[in-house]
Amino acid sequence: MKTLREIVEYCKLQSFDLKFTRAQEWKSEKSGRVLVGYMPIYFPREIIHAAGAMPVGIFGGGDRKQIIKGDAYYQSYICHIPRSIIEMALDKHMDHIDGFIFPSICDVIRNLSGIFKQQKIGKFVKYMDFPQNFLPEIGGVFYQQEMQHVLKYIKELNNVDVTTEALNHSIALYNLNRNLISEIYDIRQDFPWRLTIEEVYYIVRAGTVIPVEEHNELLEKVCELIKKDIGVPQDKIKVVISGAFCEQPAIGLIKAIEEAGCYVVDDDYMLGSRMILGDIDTTSKNPLEAISNSYIKQSQYSSSIYDIDNPKEYRLAKIVERRGANGVIFASASFCDPSLLDAPIFQNAFNKMGIRYISFQFSENINQYKVIKEQVGAFSDSIKLWEDEPLVSAHN
Ligand code: SF4
Repeated sequence: MKTLREIVEYCKLQSFDLKFTRAQEWKSEKSGRVLVGYMPIYFPREIIHAAGAMPVGIFGGGDRKQIIKGDAYYQSYICHIPRSIIEMALDKHMDHIDGFIFPSICDVIRNLSGIFKQQKIGKFVKYMDFPQNFLPEIGGVFYQQEMQHVLKYIKELNNVDVTTEALNHSIALYNLNRNLISEIYDIRQDFPWRLTIEEVYYIVRAGTVIPVEEHNELLEKVCELIKKDIGVPQDKIKVVISGAFCEQPAIGLIKAIEEAGCYVVDDDYMLGSRMILGDIDTTSKNPLEAISNSYIKQSQYSSSIYDIDNPKEYRLAKIVERRGANGVIFASASFCDPSLLDAPIFQNAFNKMGIRYISFQFSENINQYKVIKEQVGAFSDSIKLWEDEPLVSAHN
């Protein structure tokens, strides 16, 4: 793949391949290989890689999977993603995935792990509690024990003992991966017309379902290509998207926001791939401790982390400032408790700070967004028209 177009097309294909074909191919290339699926938001993929397995991100069926059986497992007043994940599992899209990890984020994901167990999907199902205590000697130790538990499950399948060298090597690969993604966002901050947010989305999401080595090569090529003066600037404001970290909006909605007059210069769509800020130590004699420390000290703001000493509203405000954004769009999946419970905290703080914002809710399978597009268009126009006026938050 030499051109940006070819890379984006490849990544688009991988991102929405609900049968995880590339992962299946990887597994079939050598006997004894293991695939481990993980749900949103974040999981330290380094440890799966170091154990000789491949992590596979499972982000729901979006608007590409009709729900027939999935609705029978859940009440109507919760988000959509667990229904499409169950539907995919029952339709055997995940039969080649050996084990499943459900990182703690909400009761819905916890219950989904229970359904996987009940339906005997996969050779292991692990509901993984992440620390909410940020003392390395308490929360950090607990987190290392959780990671050890995952490694034990994988060893039962492939008999691989994870070494310090293997862990440090895998950490280095994912450090590079995060750095390259970060470089793409940094270039787009100043030149957002060189790559649309839809294209960024495909490129980042593909990395959750293809080997990291392959993804790193693609990212290096993308960085090289977008350093060139390509594309034509348009008259759009810059915004940051927040709240869509788990269930993903349909791609049409991701596109519609930019079409309606907003360059998205930062977002939390694929937050797990960008969760750790900066590098994880690759020289530690205890790499699990290094991973644990990175989560405790270097995590991005997230609704899945309750860090009272590091309020997320100020962290998001800093991102807005650093990216030179004109405002924030809060996009939450319908009935997403973590996102919707955080929204008033952000909005009250932004009212005081004078950061403009709008908010809406979406569902992964809804691809009618005329109203949202109009709302975003009005937000963009209002900022363009009254940019020099004293800041007053816009909200619906
Ligand atoms: S979309 Fe929100 S409520 Fe639904 S599973 Fe994800 S975090 Fe939980």
